Amino acid sequence: MGMLHHNGAQLTPNAEDAEIIVVNTCSFIDSAKQESVNTILEMAKHKLAGGGRARRLIVAGCLVERYRDEIRKNIPEVDAVVGTGELEAILAAAGLTPAGHANNSPFNILPQSSELVTRAPSAVHQHSHPTEVGRQLTSEQSVSSVILSEAEGSAVPGENPGAPQPALSLSKGRDSETWASTGQSAPTLSRAEGLARERSGRFSRQAWDGAISTLPEYLYSDQTPRILTTPRASAYIKIAEGCDHPCGFCIIPQLRGKFRSRRMGSIIAEAQNLIAQGVREITLIGQDTTCYGEDLGLLDEKGEPIGLAQLLDALAVLPGLRWLRFLYTYPNKVTTRLLETMAKHNTVAKYLDIPLQHASPSVLKRMKRGGNAAIFLDLIAKARRIVPGIVIRTSFIVGFPGETEADFDELCRFVTAAEIDWLGVFTYSDEEGAAAFNLPAELKIPARTIEARRRKLMKLQQKISTRAKAAWVGRQIDLLVEGPSEETDLLWQGRTPLHAPEIDGKVLINDFGPHESLVPGTFYRAEITESHDYDVVARILE
Ligand code: SF4
Repeated sequence: MGMLHHNGAQLTPNAEDAEIIVVNTCSFIDSAKQESVNTILEMAKHKLAGGGRARRLIVAGCLVERYRDEIRKNIPEVDAVVGTGELEAILAAAGLTPAGHANNSPFNILPQSSELVTRAPSAVHQHSHPTEVGRQLTSEQSVSSVILSEAEGSAVPGENPGAPQPALSLSKGRDSETWASTGQSAPTLSRAEGLARERSGRFSRQAWDGAISTLPEYLYSDQTPRILTTPRASAYIKIAEGCDHPCGFCIIPQLRGKFRSRRMGSIIAEAQNLIAQGVREITLIGQDTTCYGEDLGLLDEKGEPIGLAQLLDALAVLPGLRWLRFLYTYPNKVTTRLLETMAKHNTVAKYLDIPLQHASPSVLKRMKRGGNAAIFLDLIAKARRIVPGIVIRTSFIVGFPGETEADFDELCRFVTAAEIDWLGVFTYSDEEGAAAFNLPAELKIPARTIEARRRKLMKLQQKISTRAKAAWVGRQIDLLVEGPSEETDLLWQGRTPLHAPEIDGKVLINDFGPHESLVPGTFYRAEITESHDYDVVARILE
């Protein structure tokens, strides 16, 4: 969206107003693919031939990496496809010339979504042609549609023309800040594991009809124009892309390519830009954040390899930042050093997201992940010891091929013993190209059994969560107010540092304390006064 906007496109939330429609897709599991295809078909109705005004329909993202040719063949309304490694190709696909039609915006980080969305459709009519800005992204959705119409260089309302001007230029594919000054293109770096896995065929797409064999290598940088789609105070930063792990249920490595880290300087510069724009909470993401830096081969001043801990050290002290968190860790990469770094900085949320996927050693082995319940319990105990008050989020897959009742019981015993704070349960999805797809048919679990196991595990977790949330009552804690509750007009909602954006339970606010009204995106001190299964209720203290 940033690249498109920077090169002359304006965004609109209304498909019917758009001249160009971009559907950004996911193809991780079946339900995501279906949602992607449904969205493409829905958007196709807005093309000229269907009586709408859209001239171009572009499909972007992971569905393209998986079904590049088939999309074109089966949905002729699609004019162009853009894979995850071809972000700059979006300009040609949209018929825009790079920087030739710029909108004179001095910012590469543009106003956040709420401002964009609140520019109501009625404002469209204030322009002689459609130049409305907005978005049609819902944070829970894996599929998003960005609706575009060409504009004549009008800046987005909400931009602050007096603010400092970061340089504007498009990334040249890899995270380019280090290499641009040398005039060299960035080398393709790899971890030893990635190279070994490549030799063993981990990234091969040969089984996929309609996909090209070239893996994405793209990494964005702080120089890449960006539009925030998160509420004002909060932003994600992707610190690495791709994955070298062999997990047997997962096709993300084939979709996203080998693991590659962004340069630390680029991440810090992006964080500084975001903070300057009002962001106060930064969430670091990547397919595996704990591998960060392993491909860069850099050492710190103590001679230790630069990794996530050093990145946290650098980011945690940035002036203006209130909360820093990272998601998607890999169990055997959560080191003592990393935990100590979390404990050391007030700004680092005491929050560990560590997808464990299962607890039975035989299932974990078949998943090609390793580990067992005892190892995971030790790790959780260690995290709780080193980082007092830490909350743990994890997710499990039930119904992996060959999962017996005994394996599932072992998982339930683990969940009871571990008393995980936030837990997600996913049902196994059989994906062509994943190692587990080729496991013998007799090992595949019937869908009804899988769903019954999911429900049973969630019920077990509900009891654990209810008990844990009751213990929150009486606690005083910082609260980032998000706005009116999504569920009722009578309450507002917010998050503590122990709630990651979008995914964990909510803090409902029923008492504004000394305030007439609250300001979304602002931090308040609050006391937890009630608890429910997953949510808690708070009153504002100050
Ligand atoms: S670590 Fe995550 S992204 Fe990587 S292969 Fe495993 S499940 Fe997939």
